[in-house]
Amino acid sequence: QSNQRAYNFNAGPSALPVEVLEKAQQELVNFHGTGMSIMEMSHRSSTFEEVHNEAISRLRKLFAIPDDYEVLFLQGGASLQFTMIPMNFLQLEKKASYVMTGVWSEKAYKEATLFGEPVQTASTKEDKYRNIPSLEEIDFGSDDAYVHLTSNNTIYGTQWSEFPDTGEVPLIADMSSDIMSKPIDISRFDLIYAGAQKNLGPSGVTVVIARRDFLAKANKEIPTILKYSTHVESNSLYNTPPTFGIYMLGEVLKWIEKQGGLAAIAKQNEEKAKLIYDVIDNSNGFYTGHASKESRSLMNITFRVADEELEKQFLTEAKDAGFVGLNGHRSVGGCRASTYNSVPLETCKALQDFMIAFQNKHK
Ligand code: PLP
Repeated sequence: QSNQRAYNFNAGPSALPVEVLEKAQQELVNFHGTGMSIMEMSHRSSTFEEVHNEAISRLRKLFAIPDDYEVLFLQGGASLQFTMIPMNFLQLEKKASYVMTGVWSEKAYKEATLFGEPVQTASTKEDKYRNIPSLEEIDFGSDDAYVHLTSNNTIYGTQWSEFPDTGEVPLIADMSSDIMSKPIDISRFDLIYAGAQKNLGPSGVTVVIARRDFLAKANKEIPTILKYSTHVESNSLYNTPPTFGIYMLGEVLKWIEKQGGLAAIAKQNEEKAKLIYDVIDNSNGFYTGHASKESRSLMNITFRVADEELEKQFLTEAKDAGFVGLNGHRSVGGCRASTYNSVPLETCKALQDFMIAFQNKHK
């Protein structure tokens, strides 16, 4: 393979565009003639502030974020958002509805139980989280603090294709594993959050996009660093931010721009996932998908090899052939190919060829 890059199907942290890594390498020691790495300079310097502000404005433009929304770069991963959301918005004895589509929804729900009375809705757990519930199944109260959903279920390989209309009730989405994989209508949501480490850059940066008037409803009596308002007021520079991660995120956004923006990225993602789903669907049961067809994710393709022994062999042979990250999540087993934005089409083509050849050899 060119430049000895692995066929990287890791679920996160995951592949980054090789062009971005190479540019970062070139700029690593002496950033734009400053004689310093971007990692070595003050987050209050004009050089860093420009990188920071450019990343925010590029994100706004590429993702078509309306002007009445804030864009924040936080730390603590998506997991800290599981806590910050109820801490800021769920008053004691108030309800919020959590749509249960997988382990990450469960974790988000569990944190909310520490702050108020969240209610689970439309759980597909009994069906091993193979499905996204139909919009009619989603129940919530008109005075709920918010409805929370997970737009892409990294572990089970399911993804929402349309989102519920929650009317006056604020809608919050964990988009960690499909943010900016396609254009969406941001105005449907009051708060979106995502760890950067799948589609947007290295781990360490968490993107939060939130409607200003929703943020205004937050509790005031909570620790300073856990208030969204602290980060809004300081343009995400309240304390030392993950400067290198923000720089890398900005470079990934430039790369998305060069691909033609999110419509072009979405088309690539469809093509890539189709290569692998086609093998599963045409394999006469040799490979079986975990997610039901209508709920399939374009980001995480979960499947099994019909026979358990063969599955082990599949994973071993794939590893020997240079494929990385194809083991399913430890909680569900099987196989998973994560085909995030930065995974090249050729990598997916290589997996398609490998899967077909493996079946031909073993059927
Ligand atoms: N939510 C989803 C959908 C995820 O896939 C993950 C991680 O894989 C998380 C949340 C947790 O993210 P973090 O590790 O950034 O806390």
